[in-house]
Amino acid sequence: MLPTFSYVKPTTIGQALRELSSPGARVHAGGTDLLGCLRDRVLTATKLVSLNGLSELRGAVELPNGGLRIGALTTLAELAAHPLVQGRYQALAAAAGAAASPQLRNQGTIGGNLCQRPRCWYYRGDFACARKGGDTCYAKEGENQLHAIFGGDVCVMVHPSDTAPALMALDASVQLIGPGGTRTVGLGAFFVPPSKDHTRETVVEPGEFVADVLIPPPPAGAVSTYRKLRSRGAWDFALVGAAVVVGLRGKKVEHARIVLSGVAPVPWRVAAAERELVGHELSDSVIERAAQRASADASPLSGNSYKVALVRGAVAEALTEVRAKG
Ligand SMILES: Cc1cc2nc3c(=O)[nH]c(=O)nc-3n(C[C@H](O)[C@H](O)[C@H](O)COP(=O)(O)OP(=O)(O)OC[C@H]3O[C@@H](n4cnc5c(N)ncnc54)[C@H](O)[C@@H]3O)c2cc1C
Repeated sequence: MLPTFSYVKPTTIGQALRELSSPGARVHAGGTDLLGCLRDRVLTATKLVSLNGLSELRGAVELPNGGLRIGALTTLAELAAHPLVQGRYQALAAAAGAAASPQLRNQGTIGGNLCQRPRCWYYRGDFACARKGGDTCYAKEGENQLHAIFGGDVCVMVHPSDTAPALMALDASVQLIGPGGTRTVGLGAFFVPPSKDHTRETVVEPGEFVADVLIPPPPAGAVSTYRKLRSRGAWDFALVGAAVVVGLRGKKVEHARIVLSGVAPVPWRVAAAERELVGHELSDSVIERAAQRASADASPLSGNSYKVALVRGAVAEALTEVRAKG
């Protein structure tokens, strides 16, 4: 059963900030993650501040510099179907379209997708795990087949979002609005690794919210995709995903970004694999080298060494797909 809380739906950003300033207030967008967390007592709230009355946070528009501004309330379904996203930012369209189920994509927003809480069964269950303020990460010695093979540290959860690695590969940033004004944070700095602070996933401060996602114009000759590997074709979180953006001049790679999902507590950029590509044609052997390099520094747990091979496969498949498109 859901606990008791009040619910407000401000219609201006000023009102939203005032409502969010009370202790125990939480941002509500689509509610697809938040309500489950409240029901399961993973989170508490005295007040939900719905952003749904703020029409300026809806939809995606082209910026004068050729980039894209996506309002935080834009749904995953809208993003997956948006002509500009499909045309220029294929990795994002693919990631948004592969997240969750059609119902959840119609209700879940991009802001909520970036700020959703971990799916680790110990975190979601009745365990005082490290992320909830306890002193143990139960997954390290316990059931860890879905957990991290990179960057685990004090907590080995994996970041659940499909859109986050795609947006990071596309060099996106988020605009945060809070009591101190507006600030822009690159996605690489938005997610907090457990080595810095294992009790939070993002830099969003109390009283603040994500207003927009900003994506720069794609680099010249850019092609991108997102390859998601999961246990079944219907809704499921990524076991491993690979977002790849490659800028081609002729047949040679001038620019590459590869960001993995399902393998680390934050979307995991593999710069060493990117370096294998730059200056080369996307031949089978170059793709294979980059795919090997992407998994080379993995530290699997007792139950998830299978993810090492999945990383290689996801990266190789994503690169083969961008070669075919380029
Ligand atoms: C069964 C199931 C399967 C799923 N499968 C996948 C999957 O395969 N891939 C995937 O990526 N996701 C998956 N999800 C997650 C789903 O995509 C997210 O629940 C959804 O995107 C969250 O968006 P929302 O608008 O509903 O957020 P809400 O539930 O409203 O909020 C989620 C969290 O983010 C905070 N928040 C929301 N918006 C903002 C904002 N603008 N600024 C600051 N904080 C904010 C809320 O306070 C809350 O803590 C799944 C969810 C479920 C329930």
